[in-house]
Amino acid sequence: MKEKLMKFMYGRYGNDELNQFLFKLVFISLVISLLSGRASFLGDLFYFLELIMVVFIYFRMFSKNFNKRYSERTAYLNYSSKIKLSLDKQSKIREQKKSYAFFKCPSCKQKVRVPKGKGKISIHCPKCGVDFIKKS
Ligand SMILES: [Zn+2]
Repeated sequence: MKEKLMKFMYGRYGNDELNQFLFKLVFISLVISLLSGRASFLGDLFYFLELIMVVFIYFRMFSKNFNKRYSERTAYLNYSSKIKLSLDKQSKIREQKKSYAFFKCPSCKQKVRVPKGKGKISIHCPKCGVDFIKKS
């Protein structure tokens, strides 16, 4: 049985990160469709999505077109790393906003960062050298 399977899978693409991600999506939609009940529109919709994704996963696993599958995988990896980067950036900005106040220089529009909670302070623009007063 195992030998037969190995023979069958020989020369076929198999599993990758994109399929693993799709598996997770299938699982999530399975939970949603179960929770919303089969008779409801949402339940039907996610049931339909599950079917499409499962068919797509099997199609990719058994595919012999390696180049196409690799380019799908690369596109997925690029996209997911971009999302991860922008999420990291957003959380860093949120973290900074807790302890810093941001102002725009009135003369050159340069963004200036100052510590929060210092009351009225004079801010020196590092770009054009203008001083302006703001409440931090
Ligand atoms: Zn300036």
